Amino acid sequence: MTLSFLIPSILLILSLITAGIIYWFWYNCFRIESRRYLKALCCGNPAHFVEAPAIALTFDDGIHPEYTPKILEILEKHQIKATFFLIGEKAQAYPEWVRYIHANGHQIGIHSFYHRNSFPFQSAAAIRDELEQTRLILSRLVGTEIFLFRPPFGVTNPMIAQATQQLNLTTIGWSIRSLDTRSSSIEQTLKRICKKLHPGGIILLHDTLPQAPELLEALLALLDKKKYQILSLEQILQIKFQSSLNLTK
Ligand SMILES: [Zn+2]
Repeated sequence: MTLSFLIPSILLILSLITAGIIYWFWYNCFRIESRRYLKALCCGNPAHFVEAPAIALTFDDGIHPEYTPKILEILEKHQIKATFFLIGEKAQAYPEWVRYIHANGHQIGIHSFYHRNSFPFQSAAAIRDELEQTRLILSRLVGTEIFLFRPPFGVTNPMIAQATQQLNLTTIGWSIRSLDTRSSSIEQTLKRICKKLHPGGIILLHDTLPQAPELLEALLALLDKKKYQILSLEQILQIKFQSSLNLTK
């Protein structure tokens, strides 16, 4: 009787310990912020922005035919330059908006071709092929080299590291994750951004959500109130992006 009562309890404790270990491992090894496998650029030096606080805006998962144009309109109205990490198949479906983003002075980066859940579990060769395919589509559309990359889900591992190294991609992370995909509440998302806000930060947003335009307007008002400037990624990271990609390869 005692044993039959104890076994489920022991199993439950063991499961919780295992889940804890897996979570710790995931949190400290595979997340982009850990910079364990990929030396992702996640923020600028806060000391450079003490006098005049500034951040950079990045948008993942586009192109969305309805919301991306609205985001672009707001950015244009406020004369802000942002970075868009695009999904290859969406870029292929809406090439006019890829060209528009580039023509309006925003930066473009690769965010995989399909954004499948299985992306991080592929071989290095398969990941490289997918990134290469996306890079070629984007490069041909805008007529310039594309060398920025943000991994889907912010997951990094040795296979992704190998693929990005082979393609000479510069990996961009973030320091302020809005978690806008988890909550449609603008108030809640702003509160989270506010909590994480720091000079030299890179904010992660998505231009594929129905609330994205309203969130962006509210965020710009908040940043203005806090006297934050919005700069490009290059300005925040204080580096000149360079690529050694050979498109003729
Ligand atoms: Zn994504």
